[in-house]
Amino acid sequence: MNTLTGRQARTISGYIATLLEYPRWCIEREVDFSDCHLQGSFESGDSRCASCEFGQACCWLNLNGREPMPDTPLPDLIDALETAATYLRRDSRETADHARQCDCDTCTWLREANAFLRTHRHKT
Ligand SMILES: [Zn+2]
Repeated sequence: MNTLTGRQARTISGYIATLLEYPRWCIEREVDFSDCHLQGSFESGDSRCASCEFGQACCWLNLNGREPMPDTPLPDLIDALETAATYLRRDSRETADHARQCDCDTCTWLREANAFLRTHRHKT
């Protein structure tokens, strides 16, 4: 039983890790650290980070800028995915004026990520 659960969890984690590749690339491309006093290492207590236009994206990148470790807990992965999906839908310039049926890479990714998040929420 344990093995089965473990294997399934790894599969889901692997799937999320793959899903996280796109927002990592996309968000990395969007932020500009040329004027950053911290060269992009987000500091949650820093007032300049709090008011920075890249603050949210930068915070996400600092947590998720690398491929997740194999032992990253599933809730953390889901959280990372949820934050990325929210960011790309609401705050990114990427999808600002895209139609619902748009089939660009970002909108396609958002549909896949949100479908996964919906399914997962139903199971818990
Ligand atoms: Zn689009």
